[in-house]
Amino acid sequence: MQGQMMEMPLTIGSLITHAERYHAKTEIISVETSGERTTTDWGSVGANARRLASALRKLGVTDGERCATMAWNNRRHLEIYFGVSGGGMVCHTINPRLASEQLVFVAGDAQDQVLFFEVTFLPLIAEIQSQLETVKHFVLMGPRDDAAAGQVEGLMFYDELVATGDADAQWPEVDERAASSLCYTSGTTGNPKGVLYSHRSTVMHTLVANQPDGLAISAQDTVLPVVPMFHVNAWGVPYVAAANGCKLVLPGPNLGGEAILKLIDDTETTLALGVPTIWMNLLAALEASDSKLPSLTRTMVGGAPLPPSIIPKFAAYGVELLHAWGMTETSPVATLNQFLQRHSVLSDDEKTELRTGQGRPLYGVDLRLLDENGGVIPHDGKTQGDLQVRGHWVVKSYFGKDSDALTEDGWFDTGDVSTIDEDGYMIIRDRSKDIIKSGGEWISTVELENIAISHPQIANAAAIAARHETWDERPIVIAVKTAAATVEEAELLAFYKGKVPSWQAPDAVIFVDALPMGATGKVQKNELRKQFGSHLIEGGDTNA
Ligand code: ADP
Repeated sequence: MQGQMMEMPLTIGSLITHAERYHAKTEIISVETSGERTTTDWGSVGANARRLASALRKLGVTDGERCATMAWNNRRHLEIYFGVSGGGMVCHTINPRLASEQLVFVAGDAQDQVLFFEVTFLPLIAEIQSQLETVKHFVLMGPRDDAAAGQVEGLMFYDELVATGDADAQWPEVDERAASSLCYTSGTTGNPKGVLYSHRSTVMHTLVANQPDGLAISAQDTVLPVVPMFHVNAWGVPYVAAANGCKLVLPGPNLGGEAILKLIDDTETTLALGVPTIWMNLLAALEASDSKLPSLTRTMVGGAPLPPSIIPKFAAYGVELLHAWGMTETSPVATLNQFLQRHSVLSDDEKTELRTGQGRPLYGVDLRLLDENGGVIPHDGKTQGDLQVRGHWVVKSYFGKDSDALTEDGWFDTGDVSTIDEDGYMIIRDRSKDIIKSGGEWISTVELENIAISHPQIANAAAIAARHETWDERPIVIAVKTAAATVEEAELLAFYKGKVPSWQAPDAVIFVDALPMGATGKVQKNELRKQFGSHLIEGGDTNA
């Protein structure tokens, strides 16, 4: 048939080209590693990204080669995102808090050629440089620093490297199916696995995750990704921001409640994104301040379950919490909790209840639940099963692996246990490795944690399985008290009465000063199980 539409590749270069051309003067505020706040704009970020791509080519880096970062959220990291991927190379964002053996493993597995890193990691890189065998170029993210120069052999400086690139360099033509970026899973069990995103999957995710029932970021927003740029590409926010020309605030290394509160107020942030701990810390800072968070209208919360008790607390400041679910393998956004038209008549309590879940799938994402025999479970909102997913921005096979990561019929098994109702609202009941099996019955750790956190004197809590002689496993809760709290174990145990069936209530509460957190702000339950897993066994807790 005659008559066709144009076809233009869906590339990361096209996103930054749009921002540079149509939103050149829109500001990007960046907290540098020194703590200094600087201001740039999309025009300068785009120009520096093009120059960086050209400089990397001059160094001899070729199509598809991996350039790694160990970096905080700041403007140089943003330029590297676009410069590396837009230039046809692959941006590998390393989680800088990995143990040094895992760091050496991921850099070697990815065969990183270039490593951009913050001054924070200079001593570490100096120590492990000889083990980073594939890395040819070490680049400190900043201007020339003579004191640093002697510490890492051949050290280059980001600002000098960018200056060697051509100012009028243009983006190369890149196949939209080519790889653009590489993220590793956290590797709590075994070595991390690489998930390789393509230009096409990234642009599709950018377009769909920002629908009105998605992030809904507009050119009128000021957006603060507290979620690290090394955690699944800050949930795709840098790309959405470029495509929509919003003002961006990059918070640097200090993500504590007070620092984030000040940044939100100073920059008049309208949307912020991060894991639940970030918002719990922000609430604590708010209570100790006079701020009423006047600019913030919404936050996106994901990465771990949102404790329902914080929803009304934020509502009191006029802030809506948007709960979302995803994983490294899903780029990450797969479901988002937005209401349907008929929900407008619900009471505030009913709305809070609905918001507790992880929401509905975006267009382009499909979900299903399987029972233990592999049978597909109906979406009745009650029956829980293993959550599987498929879609345009879901992994097919891990980086460097021949075999598919999928089931025989093409679905990815998430490792989460969920329910889904007939509208598609999905609720994560637990991760299959965390759920407690007590005398053959399942107990959700998420539910027990949410109850503990709703106690006014509890700042944070994690429920874990403790080994038990009769029941195999029983729940125990590890909790952190608020500053002036007087609550004791018996009171918190009694707090569960009437909220869960008595056999699901925890057997013990252990108070600690802080919960072990991973670099992405998630509680490390495997650490807690190591420490407290024998608490209910005679002579247990020897490590506690
Ligand atoms: P890891 O947690 O292993 O570092 P990811 O960052 O990819 O890796 O996390 C994916 C997992 O995080 C999901 O499989 C799920 O268990 C959990 N998760 C993500 N978002 C949510 C959420 N909103 N509620 C509950 N769990 C979540």
